[in-house]
Amino acid sequence: MSAAVAAQSAYTPGEQPQGGGWIKLNTNENPYPPSPLVVAAIQRELGGDGASLRLYPSPKSAPLRLAAARFHGTNVENVIVGNGSDDVLNLLARTFSDASRPVGMLDPSYSLYPVLSGLCAASVRRVPVSIEGDFDADAVAGCAANIFFLTNPNAPLGTAFSREKIESVLARFDGLLVVDEAYAPFANADTTGLLSEYPNLVITRTFSKAYALAGMRVGYALASAEVIAALDRVRDSYNLDRLAQVAGAAALEDTAYYERTIATIKATREATAAALQGRGWRVLPSQANFLMVSPPSERSISSAPAAAALFQFLKENKVLTRHFPQNPLTAPFLRVSIGNDAEMAVFLDIADKWVAAGGAAQLASVS
Ligand SMILES: *Cc1c(COP(=O)(O)O)cnc(C)c1O
Repeated sequence: MSAAVAAQSAYTPGEQPQGGGWIKLNTNENPYPPSPLVVAAIQRELGGDGASLRLYPSPKSAPLRLAAARFHGTNVENVIVGNGSDDVLNLLARTFSDASRPVGMLDPSYSLYPVLSGLCAASVRRVPVSIEGDFDADAVAGCAANIFFLTNPNAPLGTAFSREKIESVLARFDGLLVVDEAYAPFANADTTGLLSEYPNLVITRTFSKAYALAGMRVGYALASAEVIAALDRVRDSYNLDRLAQVAGAAALEDTAYYERTIATIKATREATAAALQGRGWRVLPSQANFLMVSPPSERSISSAPAAAALFQFLKENKVLTRHFPQNPLTAPFLRVSIGNDAEMAVFLDIADKWVAAGGAAQLASVS
């Protein structure tokens, strides 16, 4: 084993339970199916006998790159696609970091970044985010990273940074700024308009959340032609299979379908936030397809043991959420993905039962 691999523990993804009956609010998957155009495109590609699968796919995923370029009003040289956006993030770390080129990231943020950096033997520079969703742009500029991952909207907090904030980082930071926009379709703004002005900006997107294709593994990055050409040297020669390529392109075509499902998810998000706030819960403002929520307790509204106990109670009742106890900022919260209205009603019902049974109050009296 290489020293870098030996020193690194693997990324822990959210649980994918076997068997039915679970309500999965733990990995920010989409509760609605992908567009019917996506299903038709996959069936067309597969044909009656699957004969197309004999042949290698387009090595560069050329038609999908073109579709993404058109979608964003940019050129095909400014797009690379990957086997999920995790593949693209991995390419970015491998291409732009090593033992003498540190990787920066916000803290808390997506826990895959330090794993990818560690495998490149790169040291990690962390810049804290406040619970209000702010950070010090000068600290990013001064962290001496070669590449900095900035998740916007932030994961796991859900808050979005303004375009001015992103610009203030871009103007000062002389490394590559990767804005991970996995949740941007659920937000009020995106940063793609800044690409032509800032050659040090990279934007990553995924089909896993807003496009309901987590099981297909498709993502992409938008960047300068130089950055894309460098990433193309590092990627696998056939990094996207045939079905994933046509699925992604078809998804980008059906804007009307996705505008509808995204609007529904946002409405469910706001209704769930209002319902919890009405019950005295703390809910962070979210521009993503999840909410960070903290149950009320006797002594304070933010308690890590209460969140851990609620997580367990929900799981015993077959509702999966996510708890991030390692960071003091996230420890008092559960991250709850936005499901459909029926799933959120079950979540609220079980959460109510826990509170009624004295969940957080019991903890307050023992500790
Ligand atoms: C879900 C997620 C991704 C990964 O998306 P895939 O395309 O499924 O690999 C990337 N970044 C963040 C912040 C995410 O939450």
